[in-house]
Amino acid sequence: MNLHEYQARTLLRAAGVPMPDGDVATTPEEVEAIARRLGGPVVVKAQVHAGGRGKAGGVKLAKDPAEALGVARKILGMTIKGLVVQKVLVVPAVEIASESYAGLIMDRESQRPVFMVSAAGGVDIEEVAATSPEKIARLPVDPRYGLFPHQALGLALAVYHDFAQARAAAAILQQLYAAFSANGASLAEINPLVTTPGGAVLALDAKIVVDDNELDRRPDLAALRDESAEAPSEVAARRAGLTFIKLEGNVGCVVNGAGLAMATMDLVKYYGGEPANFLDIGGSSNPEKVVDALRIITADPGVKAILFNIFGGITRTDDVANGIVAATAQFKVDLPIVIRLTGTNEDQAFRILQSAGMRALSDMDEAVKQAVALTRGAA
Ligand code: GDP
Ligand code: MN
Repeated sequence: MNLHEYQARTLLRAAGVPMPDGDVATTPEEVEAIARRLGGPVVVKAQVHAGGRGKAGGVKLAKDPAEALGVARKILGMTIKGLVVQKVLVVPAVEIASESYAGLIMDRESQRPVFMVSAAGGVDIEEVAATSPEKIARLPVDPRYGLFPHQALGLALAVYHDFAQARAAAAILQQLYAAFSANGASLAEINPLVTTPGGAVLALDAKIVVDDNELDRRPDLAALRDESAEAPSEVAARRAGLTFIKLEGNVGCVVNGAGLAMATMDLVKYYGGEPANFLDIGGSSNPEKVVDALRIITADPGVKAILFNIFGGITRTDDVANGIVAATAQFKVDLPIVIRLTGTNEDQAFRILQSAGMRALSDMDEAVKQAVALTRGAA
């Protein structure tokens, strides 16, 4: 789950990371009032789940409250990478002497959190990694011990030559690690970490991604979810208890079990198609879940064909068949549907579908081939 900058900075500040005080607003008038209260120049920052807001015009300096009002009118309502800005963060402007990068990600390869720091800050770190990887210092952290002070200082010295600044940055890296592990994050990032002309080291941006598996035991973090900033299909799927991830293709997939769902997507690609989604209806079947799944998939205008791939074990294929029949009775499905069913109660399932005028296949390859062909307007 992505957090907004204003939410991430609350978590970082709680861990002790020095960041300027600020406030969130949803109207230009609120922005003006906050700017007046803060006094002096401010920065108005779009709160959307996207990087590169600065480049997109979503981060703007304003020298006084009147200018903040004008800037807020421009930023609120603008679209950045397809996301409409509904909130802005207003913070006192800081004079910047240098910008660096400090981030921590959960790295699957080393199976540990890995620190990355770079003197090339304020810019897209993916770009730095691609064009000049030698500018990034990395350090895997043993989660049993956390980041030792000498490791933090070693990382900081890769970026700062002034010893006082390196020590300040080292403290921030330890605080960043603390916030990362205390909140079950898969990513925590400060970009830019700046120095001021006076020599202070401050975080001016914050990004945290919380591992979804953390949310059940942390209602305080779960409450930070902003559904207005997520794909509507993913919001609907979560409410329906389905595991769903929207993708860019045109074959809508309804599958039971994560492993089979991935195998299905692989096979769709193997036969030259592109899956429109990952969808796992889960182990225990009930017809209502299938109705929800079909509703979500058919709402995606990119979908050209729907592929069911059900391996009946605990999931009863007759339940799935009943769900398909119920869904097509409840709302009109204008798309071709290819159904592959095998396993528990398949005879009943085939009969249920047949009496509703649909037919099912038992061969997975055949079903996937058909679904892909149907997206090209041929069966
Ligand atoms: P991002 O583009 O989405 O990562 O947004 P950031 O919060 O990182 O802001 C982008 C850039 O705006 C930073 O890299 C800075 O160069 C600049 N910026 C942000 N806050 C301030 C500030 O307080 N003072 C100054 N001078 N520049 C700032
Ligand atoms: Mn940034």
